[in-house]
Amino acid sequence: MNYARFLNAVSKARVASPIRELTAIQQRGPPTLISLASGMPNTDMFPFIQASVTLPDDSQLHLDQKLIKRALQYSPTPGIPELVQWLKQLQVQLHSPPTCSLGPDQGQMDLCVTTGSQEALSKTFEMLVTPGDNVLMDQPTYPGTLAAVRPLGCNLIPVETDQLGMRPDVLRDVLSRWTPQDCKNPQSDVPKVLYTIPNGGNPTGATMSLDRRQEIYEIARNYDLMILEDDPYYFLQFERPRLPSFLSMDVDGRGLKFDSFSKILSSGMRVGYVTGPKPLVSKIVLHLQASTLHTSTLTQMILFLLLEKWGVDGFLQHCDRVSDFYKERRDHMIKSADKWLTGLAEWHSPSAGMFLWLNLQGVQDTHKLIMEKAMEKEVLFVPGNAFSVVPGEPSPHVRAAFSQATPEQMDKGLERLARLLKEESQL
Ligand code: PMP
Repeated sequence: MNYARFLNAVSKARVASPIRELTAIQQRGPPTLISLASGMPNTDMFPFIQASVTLPDDSQLHLDQKLIKRALQYSPTPGIPELVQWLKQLQVQLHSPPTCSLGPDQGQMDLCVTTGSQEALSKTFEMLVTPGDNVLMDQPTYPGTLAAVRPLGCNLIPVETDQLGMRPDVLRDVLSRWTPQDCKNPQSDVPKVLYTIPNGGNPTGATMSLDRRQEIYEIARNYDLMILEDDPYYFLQFERPRLPSFLSMDVDGRGLKFDSFSKILSSGMRVGYVTGPKPLVSKIVLHLQASTLHTSTLTQMILFLLLEKWGVDGFLQHCDRVSDFYKERRDHMIKSADKWLTGLAEWHSPSAGMFLWLNLQGVQDTHKLIMEKAMEKEVLFVPGNAFSVVPGEPSPHVRAAFSQATPEQMDKGLERLARLLKEESQL
């Protein structure tokens, strides 16, 4: 892979901060090392002595005086080493990345902890996109990504999705404006980046079939595309074994996988991680060095204590419990949709994530309906246009989340929507 082809001028201009490098060296150094180098503050002056977190089984994660001093201090940009190592092992166990066949510390794979996957996504677009570039994306897609990428002045090309995720036939059709040879021409505007949410898509709930993953990977090889695999719902796949990721099939090193703890351990702790080829992950690290410096050491350490206590098996058992919880919620939502919305809306039952995508029959633009009328009925959904890659495009869809509402609330909410739709159809 010629990674220079994918990096923009901003990214090429980013260089390592000598002070950040020194922080890493200092933390690796022997206890006898005397450092007069870095300007890190003295943790003796911080007003925290120790911390404990209680788990559901009443056991505790404890940060004693020594650990809390580390937790309150600056730490290396890619993440605290023990957490990075734990996550690399996890990725190897779950995805066996082909570019990493020699083990987590060898081969080409690298990993960086980020402040939620949102930070990793935003830095990645900042690294890859030049104004005027054509960027391929699921249509519809996650508004957080649109918020990160739209101001970069690129041209977002929507690739239609259905209940099985991004459609390879549409992708081929879109790319037919170019030829694979255009990738060799630096002047060509052939797309270089493809962004997709393979599991439990936000907003559609769609999960990409294995056949499509393979087909899209082959298209990406043909057109030398970088695949950005935004996967915060990976662990919320309701069927096990989970579907193979792009990371697991990435023989070229043409993908970055964005993972998150937000849906399974805590959204407020703000921890995610990005995995992919070393040359790109190292660049993301440089972008972070110019913004947050690193993800909170305190949250990383609490997280690591938990993961270390659980081990990979315990962590995966927890993920299964969370996924089973959402699966049950999904079942309640579908039961209520069947009861109230048959004939008024269409949907596919999602096999991952926390969203149901409802296509409201006879409604051209759900924005008006939701913003003006649904509130009167005391029910709220997100109108589909919020997720459109094409600004201002009306949508007949709404996104209904089954994450927080109780089964009773979901039932009542969908009944209220049904009443609204019936009233509207009589106007
Ligand atoms: N990608 C998608 C598809 C999401 O739905 C979200 C959260 N809503 C994110 C990324 C960002 O998640 P995080 O909390 O890890 O930043």
